[in-house]
Order: sequence, then structure tokens, then C-alpha cells
Amino acid sequence: MKKGLRPIDERRPYLFAGGDVRKFLKDHNKPRQPTGFGEIFCVACKRPTEPAGAVADFFPLSPTNGNIVGRCPKCSRRIFQRIRKNEIARKFSNLTVRYEDADVPVCAEAEPLRTEPSDEEGS
Ligand SMILES: [Zn+2]
Repeated sequence: MKKGLRPIDERRPYLFAGGDVRKFLKDHNKPRQPTGFGEIFCVACKRPTEPAGAVADFFPLSPTNGNIVGRCPKCSRRIFQRIRKNEIARKFSNLTVRYEDADVPVCAEAEPLRTEPSDEEGS
């Protein structure tokens, strides 16, 4: 018998340990450069930055997730970060976060680039 990766189920030879594959993909699909405390990544400046005026808006996308939106003080572009609602208080406690409870859609051009794998919905 050869050594090395063996199929778990001989009838389905391409099914290798799924957990390992998922871990591999996860490890190789790391979120963008981590932002620091109170920072949002600016895709134009390619660096994390604190929103101008230390103010940001939160646009809910789901009951648990949303985009926190600010403005880059350097290039004046809108900057976004997908975040779990329950992480805002911890991560952006330095900012004044305005919650948009009204159903205001983030317009298409404002959609953040997919620089991170989409999080699992819910918690
Ligand atoms: Zn910028």
C-alpha cells in the first residue's frame, strides 16, 4: 500500500480529508491586511486608515452583519469594512458610529471590493 494521502472512502477516491482542504483554503485565503483598532482599509491608499473626523456610519446588511462606512482623510474616498454588528463597539469604540436603521441601500458603486472572503452569516 502506498503511503501518503489516502482517500477516506475508497468508493469516492477524490474525497480527501475535507477538514484539511478547508483549512488549506482558509489559510491561503486570508483576509486582507488586518486593520488596526478603529481603522478601515482604504482600497485607494491601500492602507488602513482612521475615518475622517472619527465618524462612521453603519449600514446593516443582515441582522448580524453590515458595512461600517467612513471617509478616507487622505483621498476622501469612502472606505468600508464588513463587520459583525456586535464587534463594532469593541473595534470602533474610538469612532462616533451612526447607525442607519432605515433601509438605506449602499449604492452599487459604493460596494466594497471583495478583499476578504465573505464571512459566515450569523454568529
Ligand atoms: Zn484613501
